[in-house]
Amino acid sequence: MEVRLEMARKPKVADGQVIQYTTLKVRLYPTEAQAELFEKTFGCCRYIWNRMLADQRRFYEETGAHFIPTPAKYKNGAPFLKEVDNQALTQEYNKLAQAFRVFFKSPEVFRHPKFKRKKDDRDSFTACSHEFESGPTIYTTRDGIRMTKAGIVKAKFSRRPQAWWKLKRITVSKTKAGKYYCSILYDCPVKKPEPVVPTPETTLGLKYSMGHFYVADNGEMAGPPRWLKQSREKLVRIQQKLSRMEPGSRNYEQAVQKYRLLHEHIANQRRDFLHKESSRIANGWDAVCMRDDDMREMSQKVMLGNALEAGFGTFRELLRYKLERQGKSLVLLDRYTPTTRTCSVCAMVQSGVDYTASAWTCPKCGTIHNREVNAAKNIKLEGLARLCA
Ligand SMILES: [Zn+2]
Repeated sequence: MEVRLEMARKPKVADGQVIQYTTLKVRLYPTEAQAELFEKTFGCCRYIWNRMLADQRRFYEETGAHFIPTPAKYKNGAPFLKEVDNQALTQEYNKLAQAFRVFFKSPEVFRHPKFKRKKDDRDSFTACSHEFESGPTIYTTRDGIRMTKAGIVKAKFSRRPQAWWKLKRITVSKTKAGKYYCSILYDCPVKKPEPVVPTPETTLGLKYSMGHFYVADNGEMAGPPRWLKQSREKLVRIQQKLSRMEPGSRNYEQAVQKYRLLHEHIANQRRDFLHKESSRIANGWDAVCMRDDDMREMSQKVMLGNALEAGFGTFRELLRYKLERQGKSLVLLDRYTPTTRTCSVCAMVQSGVDYTASAWTCPKCGTIHNREVNAAKNIKLEGLARLCA
């Protein structure tokens, strides 16, 4: 099978340096004309994706070979494609090629690429910056982002990029509530961090907890934060209101908009929470041990659980890179490592005890255990054994 791949460009790295990636997410305030161009670009990206996918499918059925035509092939038949940033269309090609690549490699994990519909898929487009003699094609100004076709789009930065970061690509997207955002990806060359050697005192064991988000071996728990409860209560109130309203009426539309805004607000709060917690832990400890639990399976078990459980996988990834960039390590234990049934003091594996209760007493050494803290302690012990091996 022929698989066409875009060669990934390796950034040039000086000796003793590594490239880290940093993303800044900024709110965009496009003019009417710029917003119109964004809408056109979103539409063209969906269109080109669907055309390439349809032709890939046809070609595969006819010949058995995998081939994706490039966007340029469609421009004569669809002249409106010429009105938008060509880079955005190229990126759709790259994304589709990548989607097929991972699908062919592990079909049990990744789904076959699907057609995009305005109704279901997020409005977005991606463009890479290119360096020319005259300068890069995409760059930030004091209060905006210069894009290829749109010109300078007004933006609000909550953090400024550092002078030595190199803008790699941007993704412009629109939320369901109609707000525009831009994710800016930077290459950041940094000095290779010195590896940190952890000690038992500077190592933390963390266990995922349905009720507290996480529980640490020292008994610390994350939450759940108060904002989550408040936001969820508001959400329920709007839902109840909606169910009493006439669909299509002006009040109904207003309530729907409110609902969308609140949803986005919760997503932002959750992201903030995950970033803050992961930074706090990564800065405070030299190594963190966790179990490699399957988060997808877990969140299905708690369909009505809090809005955070879906974030635990993200939390783990955030922790990993925040530790790595300081030369520290995240130790992931096999997801079947027994942690709840073992006494963390005398190592006796319990059989007669109800270890699913929130507290239990070890029949051998008499220690009274909090179930989750005991599990976190075992995770730490296992992780330390791995670190010292
Ligand atoms: Zn014991």
